[in-house]
Amino acid sequence: MDFSYTPKTQEMLARVQKFMDDHIVPRIGQYNEEVHAGNYPVSFMADLRELARSEGLWNMFLPHLKDDEPGTRLTNLEYAPLAELTGRVSWAPEVFNCNAPDTGNMELLHMFASESQREQWLKPLLNGDFHSAFAMTEPDVASSDATNITTLMQREGDDYVINGRKWFISNAARPDCSIFIVMGKTDPNNENVHKQQSMILVPRNTPGLEIIRNPTVLNHHSPEGHCEIVFRNVRVPASNLLGEEGSGFALAQARLGPGRIHHCMRSIGSAQLALELMVERAQERKTFGKYLHQHGSIGEGIAKSRIEIETARLLVLKAAWMMDNVGAKEARREIAMIKALVPTMHTTVADRAMQVFGAMGLTPDTPLADIYTWGRCLRLADGPDEVHLQAIARMEIKESQTKLGATSVYLTPPARN
Ligand SMILES: Cc1cc2nc3c(=O)[nH]c(=O)nc-3n(C[C@H](O)[C@H](O)[C@H](O)COP(=O)(O)OP(=O)(O)OC[C@H]3O[C@@H](n4cnc5c(N)ncnc54)[C@H](O)[C@@H]3O)c2cc1C
Repeated sequence: MDFSYTPKTQEMLARVQKFMDDHIVPRIGQYNEEVHAGNYPVSFMADLRELARSEGLWNMFLPHLKDDEPGTRLTNLEYAPLAELTGRVSWAPEVFNCNAPDTGNMELLHMFASESQREQWLKPLLNGDFHSAFAMTEPDVASSDATNITTLMQREGDDYVINGRKWFISNAARPDCSIFIVMGKTDPNNENVHKQQSMILVPRNTPGLEIIRNPTVLNHHSPEGHCEIVFRNVRVPASNLLGEEGSGFALAQARLGPGRIHHCMRSIGSAQLALELMVERAQERKTFGKYLHQHGSIGEGIAKSRIEIETARLLVLKAAWMMDNVGAKEARREIAMIKALVPTMHTTVADRAMQVFGAMGLTPDTPLADIYTWGRCLRLADGPDEVHLQAIARMEIKESQTKLGATSVYLTPPARN
């Protein structure tokens, strides 16, 4: 495996860095003020998106674009350091049309949309004309197990009629979130619990779709929303079905691979920024006659943070390399590993940085509270840590079962008499 940056990556990195320095970082304060004042989408977002697109910094996450689709056609490995850079500012990925959950939704549509769905929904998403949401989680059932979901999608003539309640649906508070990819059950009595679900495309303005509220997470207001939504007799044409009826579970698995690695790439960037902030602050302030970094415990926190970031980055790069070279399915153990590892690393580093900043670290005067909050969210979003750990353990057991007894040669018990 070779993780060195290709000339293309180096060139793109320089351009993304310059764009961040010139257009994004100088607007962090303005973004916060506008969102605080309830002005969302913020006044400059459309112009910045236009500019990024005109500079060719657009849809950098999708490796296999078709000829008529706009984007950079980078591999996952090439995209990783770029995503890391954009992860330093929470809203930067949107500027490049590389923000979740739109990216995962575009990946999904790219893989499974029919020709007419592609024209109607994928192309405008790739063009950045509107945003999208993915609605799987439900308040009334443990949704880490997708077989639990209860939203019903019943076939009536040429339509499906949808009834159910979802929550934590990211992007749904955006006024221009125009399409919801909804997971529900079309065949709840199927003996195979993985064939009961389907996914269907529901335009936002469909009668019966109601956005109930946008709950805060860790008391943090997300302007794009993680909303609770009700579907009451929502009727859409059967042609809105994504893929085959009964394929919803498989589609969800396919969607989550790329989505998870992109989250992890951006997390590395957030943690890296937290470390940089911590290191500077530790050189600025003194207690008991020493700079903070000269206290052993602070130095240790800095060193551990560096080790943890580098460890996580290498594993993310390995997962990216595997996705490029053997495919997302073969890379599922690595993807589960990074999803279980990186958000905890992200929050741990942010937490240390907050501590080094003292009380200021908890205020909106630094990005640390936001960084921490998002890291904590990621321990749940796209599946809680435990589910990924369970998946890794299952793969280990399965692999071991193909060669059970192979370790016995290393055991040296005394002979029994
Ligand atoms: C900020 C944010 C954004 C989100 N965006 C979206 C979105 O856009 N669309 C969407 O559909 N969902 C979204 N989610 C929801 C997220 O995917 C779910 O919260 C997650 O899958 C867990 O489901 P649950 O909340 O129902 O928890 P439950 O399934 O009730 O699980 C609760 C807890 O049980 C434990 N647990 C579960 N399984 C196991 C196991 N196998 N072993 C041990 N312990 C276990 C874990 O500790 C877990 O946290 C988002 C969540 C957050 C926080």
